[in-house]
Amino acid sequence: MLDFSDLPVVDAHCHPYRRADALSPEEWVDALAFGGGSPAYLREGGIDVDAAARSLLGRLKRDTLYFRFMLRRLAEYFGVEATVDAVVAARNQAIVRDGYAAYAGRLHGAGRIETLIVDDGYPLPQINLDQFRAEVGVEVLPVFRIEVLIQDLLDDDCGWSEFQRRYDESIAEALGNGGYRGLKSIIAYRTGLDIDPGSRSPDQGRVALERLRRARGRGEDPIKDLRDHLFCRAIERCIDFDAPFQVHTGMGDWEVHLAACRPALLMELLRYPAYRACKFLLVHTGYPYHAEAGYLANVLPNIWCDISEGLPFAGNAGKRIIAEVLEMAPISRVCYGSDVYGSPEPFYTSALLGKQALAQALGELIDDGFLSGTEAQEAARMILADNARELYGI
Ligand SMILES: [Zn+2]
Repeated sequence: MLDFSDLPVVDAHCHPYRRADALSPEEWVDALAFGGGSPAYLREGGIDVDAAARSLLGRLKRDTLYFRFMLRRLAEYFGVEATVDAVVAARNQAIVRDGYAAYAGRLHGAGRIETLIVDDGYPLPQINLDQFRAEVGVEVLPVFRIEVLIQDLLDDDCGWSEFQRRYDESIAEALGNGGYRGLKSIIAYRTGLDIDPGSRSPDQGRVALERLRRARGRGEDPIKDLRDHLFCRAIERCIDFDAPFQVHTGMGDWEVHLAACRPALLMELLRYPAYRACKFLLVHTGYPYHAEAGYLANVLPNIWCDISEGLPFAGNAGKRIIAEVLEMAPISRVCYGSDVYGSPEPFYTSALLGKQALAQALGELIDDGFLSGTEAQEAARMILADNARELYGI
């Protein structure tokens, strides 16, 4: 059995969070778990969120394999029983005893996590990254989410010349002096990945914005034309700054455009001649459509697959995702990521799961005669850290 527990980790996609020293078991579950809906989701549907509804949501969150794995690994870490109450009590006590930064630093150290590449477009309002850095005790490198900027500009009611100037300047500032190491887009949550590469034409943004400002709910919604145009403009800035572009593909929370999030929808755009110099990281490697992302990383030279979200949130699928992405993607184009948020604990347990899943997937490739033991060790080192270091120039 391979053992990668000593290998360093660069988390290629995750989120900063607000420090919380003492959490109740319910708050902890809410902050960390994936899926199961939310009180806001029910309320927006006119459903009364009473104690029974809250307890149902809590139960759904605790009933995922992801959650059970996290809980068991944390129980081992703290040396307590694998119950939410025991783990949360141990966590809260450790923070009081050691101080928050030491607690977080020890957990990251146990997972050998060295760098977090964070998308600070979630949560909103944005987390102060200097403060976050001081609290987590590892290197933190941010990427800039274009949809936060787009929303600010839409809310501002400015005309196109001001809109495009502020859009371009804000991105240039972020990638220049702002310390951001790349851009991020969640257009898959908005209008979908079927972006026409010709959307960069000089007039598309202006016409779409003017129609949007004048439409007042009448006629066709021009927002997709505008978002597609802005996405293509962002690609050009990435090329200018030689910065990677993270594009959300595949599953997300319940608001994702699930039918329009498949990596295959990006094919026209990715192979468009004007955009071939851009380095794209397909965030979540399109899970559950991850084979499509692996294929794109094979036939196009500037595509990276980030296995976050499927790993850890799809639980035991981690080993299968890695195996299926590696069916086509070059080993040097696959990066570990977690997409976790909320508190230091899931960063640690996700790293454990990533290493376990890699050991299982690469072990099978050794058995089947595709890799030697040395090559598997090297592949794990690349996927866990070195490929992301190369992509981000760390
Ligand atoms: Zn994310």
